[in-house]
Amino acid sequence: MSDQATPTQPQARPQAQPQAYYQAELDAGRWQIQRCGGCGQHVFFPRVGCPHCGAAALDWVTPSGGGTVYAVTTVRRKPAEGGDLNVSLIDLDEGVRLMSRVVNRAPEAVTIGQRVRARVQVTEGQGLLVFEAIDDVSPAAEGAA
Ligand SMILES: [Zn+2]
Repeated sequence: MSDQATPTQPQARPQAQPQAYYQAELDAGRWQIQRCGGCGQHVFFPRVGCPHCGAAALDWVTPSGGGTVYAVTTVRRKPAEGGDLNVSLIDLDEGVRLMSRVVNRAPEAVTIGQRVRARVQVTEGQGLLVFEAIDDVSPAAEGAA
């Protein structure tokens, strides 16, 4: 929620262009999702109105980063194309589900229920949200940060 207006670059407007703002934040190495000022629920994908209560008052907040793997898929690719790829559905501790990748394990080694932590990976100015498997089993233990 800080004002990081950079003089060199026009900022995407957080309220009117939520998807563009979300990506611009990722490109800058930051990860934010929306939370409804009306009902308090977190919202993902970025949008202009709350899907739960219809309020337009969506705030941008930084999630704890913790999540749990809900479902996993291995996308088969030839080694020349980068090899097999993990695609996972992740339930964030904030209560929203998103599709991403667990990048620090072999695709077959990612299992349902695995605790993961988010990380923004910036490659050539393009930000991507990925997850790393962690051994912690208690969401409550680190959510406080
Ligand atoms: Zn709401």
